[in-house]
Amino acid sequence: MSFTLHGLSVSDGIAIGRALLMSHATLEVSHLTVGPRMVEKEIARFDQAVEAVKQELATIKESTGHAPAELAAFIDIHAMFLEDPELVEKPREIIRARRCNAEWALVQQMEQLVKQFEAFDDPYLRERKFDVRQVVERVIKELLGHPGRAVMKAGKGLKEEMLIVVAHDLSPADVISFKEHRFASFITDVGGATSHTAILARSLAIPSVVGLENARALIRDDEMLIVDGLRGVVIVDPDERVLEEYRLRKNQIELEETKLKRLKNAKSQTIDGIDVNLYANIELPVDVPEALADGAEGVGLFRTEFLFLDRGDMPDEQEQFEAYKKVVKGMGGRPVTIRTFDLGNDKDLHVDASIRVQTNPALGRRAIRLSLAEPQMFQTQLRAILRASRFGPVKLLIPMLAHAHEIDQTMAALEQAKSSLRGEKIVFDENIEVGGMIEIPAAALAIGLFMRRLDFLSIGTNDLIQYTLAIDRSDEQVAALYDPLHPAVLMLLAHTITSAEKADIPVSVCGEMAGDPKLTRLFLGMGLRTFSMHPSQILKVKNRILKADVSELAPAVRRILRLEEPGKLREALEKLNS
Ligand code: PEP
Ligand code: MG
Repeated sequence: MSFTLHGLSVSDGIAIGRALLMSHATLEVSHLTVGPRMVEKEIARFDQAVEAVKQELATIKESTGHAPAELAAFIDIHAMFLEDPELVEKPREIIRARRCNAEWALVQQMEQLVKQFEAFDDPYLRERKFDVRQVVERVIKELLGHPGRAVMKAGKGLKEEMLIVVAHDLSPADVISFKEHRFASFITDVGGATSHTAILARSLAIPSVVGLENARALIRDDEMLIVDGLRGVVIVDPDERVLEEYRLRKNQIELEETKLKRLKNAKSQTIDGIDVNLYANIELPVDVPEALADGAEGVGLFRTEFLFLDRGDMPDEQEQFEAYKKVVKGMGGRPVTIRTFDLGNDKDLHVDASIRVQTNPALGRRAIRLSLAEPQMFQTQLRAILRASRFGPVKLLIPMLAHAHEIDQTMAALEQAKSSLRGEKIVFDENIEVGGMIEIPAAALAIGLFMRRLDFLSIGTNDLIQYTLAIDRSDEQVAALYDPLHPAVLMLLAHTITSAEKADIPVSVCGEMAGDPKLTRLFLGMGLRTFSMHPSQILKVKNRILKADVSELAPAVRRILRLEEPGKLREALEKLNS
């Protein structure tokens, strides 16, 4: 039976394909590679979890003294499994040999054992596979301080690009792994449209919808789905007429995209001759070819934290240096803005628990706050970025600034990194420019403080909206309140852009708003001349720029900025775009 689910659009386009369900059972665990130094720690973590479950079983048995004999026997069997070298020794060997995380090692071994039990003729012995699963599930629960990452299942003979991933939730690390798998689309029950999961989805340029609430429960494996990314709608088991209509629309969209490709080499300039810089936001060095293919004139935001999100330890200086150098060289002399780690919040590196953010992470020790609190980690990154700066124009960008002293401390840390490199006679750009993300309202309001200390500004609208409106960007329950056109947001944007223009400080917007073609004319009218966005959006925005006349837009936008009523504001914006 056909039915429709409504969620939040993450990236437009249409996908037609078969559902690939991701189980959210406890046994769906992260597949992580642990660094050589973490192997022993991982084994210790595994041992502790096994010990804890043994204790737990003993306590259950004690507290159920008069319980039926079956229950006691059941507990005994579980306890027995926890003494079996097949279940407690083998995973240790797997961790050591394959350098995988404890959860994954345990699940691999469990699968082996389950197969062995399934091969028994004796029905009683065959049934024991359920006990193995249950006891493993207990240990996994113990190991997981947080829900495990989703795991891909085999695609039943279908090509990946015909599959639509259906999940309850996906972490940024899951989505990063999609860069290696070309799915047609993905849809989730939870998540806001500017969560980092959604941002990564946009960078994959596949249609996706989040916040569907019950997709995981209502959709069955292999069911035919249409994902309408533009409207944020998923049609389950569509009839032939609807399918035909969507196939037609899909073709039209693809045709328009082909046409847009012709703009790749066109100069990004308005009708009245104003040059506009169009830069790419990237997450990994593998994003560089796409950025160039879409005509990016540079990298305006390199979110370095994503490089290492799916591993268990921090990268050393050499690894970071190699990654940064790859991007800088790949961009062939075009500017590359490298942002220092924005870890914390929804980007948890699964590193040492002592530097993990706990409560209310968006307001916690995130981004520059975390870097300043971890001077060793910060020095490593600064040195790696500086070393990459000899291979092309590199700029340094600091995320989430709220205080002037954070810049002063960053400058001191940078000077320390420079001086250590000088001592080792390593060449780097002595005059590397340092910019700051304006993404906390305090920074936008007291912009003078920041302009005096920085070479350039980059406005992060995703966080600016989150903090201005007190709307968690990854919470679908308040997603409807996440409003880029709220007058307060527009005021902060206009104030920052105008102030920077007056002070002759370069300013760009690198949040999701920059890549929304419906907002291009508004930004041009505000005075913005540098946009940084997902490569997939560059040509759409360029198309708008080529048709814009700033001399007409500027006075119209000034009038829009005086409006406060949301309805009137939206109406005026529609008029501006018509
Ligand atoms: C932003 O906040 O707008 C931004 C560009 O940074 P991120 O999305 O990585 O927080
Ligand atoms: Mg941000």
